[in-house]
Amino acid sequence: MPLRLDGKKLAEKIEKRLYSRISVGLEHVRRPPGLAVLRIGDDPASAVYVSNKAKACKRIGISSFVSHLPPDSSQEDLVKKIHQLNADERVDGILLQLPLPKGIQESALLAEIDPEKDADGLHALNLGKLLKGEPGPRSCTPAGVMALLAHNQIPLAGQRAVVVGRSILVGQPMALMLQAANATVTVAHSKTRDLVKLTKQADLLIVAAGQPLLIGSEYVKSGATVVDVGIHRLAGESTTGGKNKASLCGDVRFEEVSKVASAITPVPGGVGPMTVTMLLVNTVMRWQDHCGLSFSLSDLVP
Ligand code: NAD
Repeated sequence: MPLRLDGKKLAEKIEKRLYSRISVGLEHVRRPPGLAVLRIGDDPASAVYVSNKAKACKRIGISSFVSHLPPDSSQEDLVKKIHQLNADERVDGILLQLPLPKGIQESALLAEIDPEKDADGLHALNLGKLLKGEPGPRSCTPAGVMALLAHNQIPLAGQRAVVVGRSILVGQPMALMLQAANATVTVAHSKTRDLVKLTKQADLLIVAAGQPLLIGSEYVKSGATVVDVGIHRLAGESTTGGKNKASLCGDVRFEEVSKVASAITPVPGGVGPMTVTMLLVNTVMRWQDHCGLSFSLSDLVP
């Protein structure tokens, strides 16, 4: 059996650490960390993600401020809301829940978030800092993957890594973080020819294609580490054999790939919980900076 890269367990461990950091910090400053989450429209998956984030904040002592705005909100109103949050002294981190309803310009809104309060690391300035190897908030999903790999002592330096997917949210920052850790990185995407040939060479395969069960054992080199970022709800099918039950799966065929990989993330319980945890880490880091606290969590941030 391959090593299971258990994001749920690691997330719990990091949450405990954050909880105690906040408790110690509150002996010196008056207010807890604050995270503002901006949800626009009625995407049902976003509702679940936002609620999970608010629950996670509550568990460790972060104040969460969730704003839910209608899908037909004007760009102007949304910018105004972001400016209010930028000016709100209780707020250390701001997260714009993606995807946005059609017609709303995502990059223009992300650009309005104060880079100092950018909990998701998606502001152009912070993406630039990642590119240059300077400290700053990092994109939560790839940062969570890096923490999971580090915790499980998966070697990266000199390893051949293939990232499937090149989105700004996952694939691109993932590739930069792996490069910064001295892996030799190739990025594949929907126009890549002969994907199997490429992925077969990977010591480390990160899959963020958003295609349910795309990657089977034929894509994976024996002994590789496989990280599945994808998450999909399969209505009416169950990967565990039950009938008519919605179940979750990733971009990787877990059972099949488990027979060849040396380490693998499950879905659920792999990358997902780590994404939420890195959002908490980013918020607590920003709080420390804003309140002049000196303790470090920098070992958690790639
Ligand atoms: P996206 O749709 O923005 O990007 C997908 C990328 O995959 C694109 O670059 C595309 O070119 C590439 N791609 C698509 N089909 C491909 C194929 N057949 N072969 C090679 N490349 C292909 O998606 P995203 O926002 O990057 O998210 C990817 C997946 O990760 C989704 O399933 C999403 O739900 C999931 N996700 C999970 C978390 C988490 O916390 N677990 C966080 C973010 C995203």
